[in-house]
Amino acid sequence: MAAEAMTVNVINPATEETIATLESAGVEETDAAVERARAAFPAWRAVAPGDRVRLLRRLATLVEEHHEELAQIESRNAGKPINGARGEIGMVADVFHFYAGAIDKRYGDTIPVAGGVDMTFREPLGVVGLIVPWNFPLNIASWKLGPALACGNTIVLKPAELTPLSALRLAELVLEAGIPEGVVNVLVGKGSVVGQRLVEHPHVAKIGFTGSTEVGRSVMQGAAGTIKRVTLELGGKSANVVFADADLERAAAVAPYAVFDNAGQDCCARSRILVERSAYDRFAELLIDATSKVRVGDPSDERTEMGPLISAQHRETVASFVDGEPLFTGEVQAGKGYWYPCTLVEASNEDRIARDEVFGPVAALIPFDDEADAVRIANDTPYGLSGSIWTQNGARALRVARALETGVLSVNSNSSVRVTTPFGGFKQSGFGRELGLYGLDGYSEVKNVFYSTEG
Ligand code: NDP
Repeated sequence: MAAEAMTVNVINPATEETIATLESAGVEETDAAVERARAAFPAWRAVAPGDRVRLLRRLATLVEEHHEELAQIESRNAGKPINGARGEIGMVADVFHFYAGAIDKRYGDTIPVAGGVDMTFREPLGVVGLIVPWNFPLNIASWKLGPALACGNTIVLKPAELTPLSALRLAELVLEAGIPEGVVNVLVGKGSVVGQRLVEHPHVAKIGFTGSTEVGRSVMQGAAGTIKRVTLELGGKSANVVFADADLERAAAVAPYAVFDNAGQDCCARSRILVERSAYDRFAELLIDATSKVRVGDPSDERTEMGPLISAQHRETVASFVDGEPLFTGEVQAGKGYWYPCTLVEASNEDRIARDEVFGPVAALIPFDDEADAVRIANDTPYGLSGSIWTQNGARALRVARALETGVLSVNSNSSVRVTTPFGGFKQSGFGRELGLYGLDGYSEVKNVFYSTEG
């Protein structure tokens, strides 16, 4: 392997400085990590539920104790505004607390049958491979780690090559919490090498994946060879549907943050803003005003609301979506860093900007005629992850919510990710659910046992 040994330079996207140089794992290191996880599995699954509760709770507490340190790591590595990074690390701790609390409250069933007793158990899967992206590095890792550990699985976690630092620090906290060696293994390496090997490895029972729909497709194909379980959280092209009877001031004031938070690098970004034609001009005016107030700049500044994009290459991709004259272009600082301005464009749902995931701070404003037209446009996409509905008509809100082919919706709000509630997509946004008690389903197998009472 030595001949293949490679290093990865970890960059701060706000300054373009190298902040760490790490060794990049290959296939051999991946196999060794899977073996460590495999060796650790029998003892980990046998840990008494109450003890597993304590271990996971201790991890949650350690994340809280190291809250600022982890937030700083995340902010520097991903270019996130520090306040956003603090919120994300807070959620990581909450996720571990939630799943710690769930461990000894997850019951099986007894099912009425003739001639005996029928009961169900939830068994861990074994070694699970977790492959996560760079946009919310530790947050998304925790959504998978929490339920996977709670269910008694052991883990090989592959962070994105661009943002491995917070996962590496978490691995140290895992050991400090008393979770045994080998239960959580973090591997820094390329998706096409480490990720691919995890997907194909015969001793990995499941892949929990968040990333692009394209790679998700290849994960699903690769997993077919061993009938591996997969949970896929993929791309989105979510609609923010604003009816004329909505509180337009409120909807417009918060709409920018539903796209430009995390510089638009968010699978839930409401990047198609659908507005009823009769309110379109007024809403556009309010939206431009609100967008011009988004504070873009140094991620370490407490007041900053939007930082840079993750890489120069990604900035090029984002820029390729904007042709013609935008409705609004914000300002960004000059000099080092992968900056891109908040951008609003007017579009139709057929335009590329409305069809493909931009994953940057660019929103498409699209008019609609009536409720049926709004539902038609919102659903006219291969994706189905998230979205919002703004109206003061309660019946309409529920009608539209039921009609949208989308996994996670909010009404008169753009907030749809919570520790306790299920998160995941319809259509090509993936399948399986994370967070809440639903998240546990993806990391255990239901076993049915019939026990005869005859004879
Ligand atoms: P990818 O899907 O390429 O990467 C996500 C994760 O998968 C990373 O850890 C990556 O590793 C890994 N990976 C890459 N190739 C393979 C493979 N063949 N087998 C197994 N794992 C693999 O997303 P990107 O980060 O490159 O982003 C590209 C686009 O994907 C974005 O512009 C956006 O549209 C979308 N995206 C969506 C996300 C979401 O939350 N739904 C999150 C991130 C991206 P590594 O990067 O280390 O090579």
